[in-house]
Amino acid sequence: MRGRASTEIPADRDDTALVPTRMAEIQKAPVKRLSPFDVLIGLRLSIIRRAADMLVLHFGPIRRHPSGTGTVADYALHVQCPWRLDGPSGTVTGRDDLWEYAGPGQRPQNWSPDDGLSLQDQKFANLFVWDESTRSWVNESDGFGVIAAQQASRGDVRLHLANAHEILLFPASCIQEAWRLFAIDGERHVVFPDERQDFAVSRRKKALADQEYEVWLRVIEAPKDASCMEAPPPLVISSDGARYRCGRCGVVLLVAELGALKDFVVRCRRCDRYNEVPL
Ligand SMILES: [Zn+2]
Repeated sequence: MRGRASTEIPADRDDTALVPTRMAEIQKAPVKRLSPFDVLIGLRLSIIRRAADMLVLHFGPIRRHPSGTGTVADYALHVQCPWRLDGPSGTVTGRDDLWEYAGPGQRPQNWSPDDGLSLQDQKFANLFVWDESTRSWVNESDGFGVIAAQQASRGDVRLHLANAHEILLFPASCIQEAWRLFAIDGERHVVFPDERQDFAVSRRKKALADQEYEVWLRVIEAPKDASCMEAPPPLVISSDGARYRCGRCGVVLLVAELGALKDFVVRCRRCDRYNEVPL
């Protein structure tokens, strides 16, 4: 067996020999104009939330907002125009499903999508994990990684995801802001249509102001004594406290006052990592 394996290993050498050839091919390829959405390629769709009926998508690893409140990723896409999420076998959901009541029972008389239980909520819940503390759906899988992006001259956008899902945006107004793409740490916003400015930004700031303080735990090796706590469900030490999230998968593990925890190790039941409170 060992001898056979060693005859297979030199294949690696052939791979490295191919690299210069590939580089030459890349250099010969025609130069393509980059679409602003190309910055998303290689990043996963990680956060989905709404501000009123505006769809908010974040792409890239989830981290705390620079202000210390709420979560963000590398890039945000705010969508106010019609949109659709397609799966490999058909439409998953779209903008209009927000106003469809999905049960249980009959639609209550004064029901609004803000009360939850819309068809759109239900469809997102099938694919993503709801996080109450940031009022977001969270995705940890690489399946929703962006592999290609196209933007047409009239603002139609198609984002191809690795798991054969697609996000489609189709502006349906000649004046209203349809969508806006921006880096969380950047100044420049790509807006379609580009006449109007900063309407969505002010709404975003308001939404984040409502969210609570949170801390990401530090992932550590398994401790030698097996006496650590386990979560989720989250261990609530003080109910008005900060949310402490698993350093790997982001699920809320603890709710406690800042500074109240020391030498505290908790195992995440979702991703099987051990976390400690950072000092
Ligand atoms: Zn975890």
